[in-house]
Amino acid sequence: MPELPEVETVARGLQKAVAGDAVESVWIGKRPQVLKSAAREIEKAVTGATIAAVRRVGKHIVVDLQNGSAPVQWVVHLGMTGSFVVCPADAPLEKHTHLVARLRSGRELRFVDPRMFGKLAVASTAFSAAGAEPLEIGAEEFTALFHGTRAPIKSALLNQALLSGVGNIYADEALFRAGIRPRRRSHTLTRAELRSLYDAVREVLHEAIAAGGTTVNDYMNALGESGRFQFDLRVYGRETEPCLRCRTPIKRIVISGRSTHYCPKCQK
Ligand SMILES: [Zn+2]
Repeated sequence: MPELPEVETVARGLQKAVAGDAVESVWIGKRPQVLKSAAREIEKAVTGATIAAVRRVGKHIVVDLQNGSAPVQWVVHLGMTGSFVVCPADAPLEKHTHLVARLRSGRELRFVDPRMFGKLAVASTAFSAAGAEPLEIGAEEFTALFHGTRAPIKSALLNQALLSGVGNIYADEALFRAGIRPRRRSHTLTRAELRSLYDAVREVLHEAIAAGGTTVNDYMNALGESGRFQFDLRVYGRETEPCLRCRTPIKRIVISGRSTHYCPKCQK
């Protein structure tokens, strides 16, 4: 499932590729599952609009459109298997394509999603995510946020109402770097531990963004390329393999239904 670095990578790629372009026409498929606004509403907002900018808000991609005098936001969520890509108009149409926007430049912006957990919507008021932005939150605010919950720290990191965009892979990686056991109750962590975790979360997200995200199953960037951060994972997906720091086998447990990886020696 795409997490913050993957969504950031897609948004940056699209910003580079399509900002300043305009949508000439749009085709929307017949599967209603991914449409969170009515098809005719999306069509009306997008057709003829200039793409002012593309950016990430939480785990959403927000396309700022200028259509006539009113700014409109086109909000896209990749769900589990969604991809939002720009390609030449003659590129073969993939199965499970739910939207094709024909651009003035002759290219197309396509939304493809086999499992249909993704979302397409338009909004006329500023779109915002529920939780705090992990790359913008301050250390004090971060500490207060996690001292305010008794949930295991792994679950708290995944709680999108607290932090927006940190998913399973980066939660495991950040806890390893901070030396904290995933089952520890959030409110029992010391200020120093939360400070290390704060630094680790930001470090791991920045490194993953620099590597173009993590491709575990089928994530692709805006140009249809894979990420490279899967080669830098220290605990995630490394069950029974030796810890890179102390050689102890990495353990896998399940917390709130999510697969969790940690080193029983390095993480306290
Ligand atoms: Zn270790």
